[in-house]
Amino acid sequence: MDLAFEAAPTPTVAIAGSAERIPVRRIFCIGRNYAAHAREMGKDPDRDPPFFFLKPADAVVEDGATVPYPPQTANLHHEAELVAVIGTGGVNIAEADALGHVWGYAVGNDLTRRDLQLMAREQGRPWDLGKGFDRSAPIGPVFPVSRVGHPSKGAIRLTVNGAVKQEADLSELIWSIPEIISILSQSMELRPGDLIMTGTPAGVGPLQPGDVCVVSVDGLGDLTTIIGAPA
Ligand code: MN
Repeated sequence: MDLAFEAAPTPTVAIAGSAERIPVRRIFCIGRNYAAHAREMGKDPDRDPPFFFLKPADAVVEDGATVPYPPQTANLHHEAELVAVIGTGGVNIAEADALGHVWGYAVGNDLTRRDLQLMAREQGRPWDLGKGFDRSAPIGPVFPVSRVGHPSKGAIRLTVNGAVKQEADLSELIWSIPEIISILSQSMELRPGDLIMTGTPAGVGPLQPGDVCVVSVDGLGDLTTIIGAPA
């Protein structure tokens, strides 16, 4: 096959303690999956069907990297999240089988241009530019299920310059990981390398150039992101 120009490299994320890497296919994100965060966003927490949005695979950023403050926003926000990595694809996956499709777990930060997201929300427009901008998906090293099992409780925490901004427990997820996988797989065929960002707890807030933002989940280590000067 002759390509008209060179194909972009496959985006990848690190695997903890390994030289191998996870090839990233898509990044699914779920909205409002902790009640206190739904309230702080001006919405009632509920068990209405969950909603999803995506980030481009090449939005992934390594642990320790500097993310230049993105353009066209005055309100860049952090969102601490647990990330599930799909290793075995499928359609119409039953909840009881869903965890068997997970390769591992990581810590993530769903960086958000909050002003653009809220403007889109008010106008009934897509969230892509608020959520799926360049370098909007810092993801820590992935820990295989064989090492960490399937975390369903444990602290999720985010600090900015050492001050705790978000702190909750994974048991507070409104939609569990098996439920999310089952629901998503009824709508799209999940494939290996799909990442699922499972939502953020309360306490989202702004980041400024020079800030050091650290997300941690019990058993999954830390993800450090430095916000740089605008590119
Ligand atoms: Mn999020």
